[in-house]
Amino acid sequence: MKSWISPKTKKGLKSKIHGRGIFAIALIKKGEVVAIKKGHLLTGAQIKKLGTRHHYDLKIGDDLYIGPNCKDEFEDSMVFINHSCSPNAGFKGQQATFIAIKDIKKGEEIVLDYAMFDDDEKNIMKCNCGFSNCRKIITGKDWKNPKLQKKYKGCFSPFIQKKINK
Ligand SMILES: [Zn+2]
Repeated sequence: MKSWISPKTKKGLKSKIHGRGIFAIALIKKGEVVAIKKGHLLTGAQIKKLGTRHHYDLKIGDDLYIGPNCKDEFEDSMVFINHSCSPNAGFKGQQATFIAIKDIKKGEEIVLDYAMFDDDEKNIMKCNCGFSNCRKIITGKDWKNPKLQKKYKGCFSPFIQKKINK
């Protein structure tokens, strides 16, 4: 249940955005796979029972997540991919595969926009990404924003893209 990370990355390093992050340790070209999230398939109720928090788990469908099943699996399952309002990675059609959506320089933190996969309406967090387009407050409703839908077309998790297409 160990998440796969590209040999061009290192995860768990201190991030300026939040806690720990995943960073490029060599140039990563647009289109390259950065990481693949692995873990158990869990429902929201199972996660609540485990006492872990939703942001350890990647949402891949309605009430369906991939994540660690116990504390011992935490480090292996975590990709530590932080949110940024100016992301350099996205999903490109697969639910748990993070792909570079632009060239990522050595030393850069690899980041997603959580609007690409988060539709849990109760989720609210502050953003410290520091980009001029920062939304400051990130919520589980951001995927509904038409500007973001246009900006990230083809980069959303498939279950979010399906909802947008409807
Ligand atoms: Zn931001």
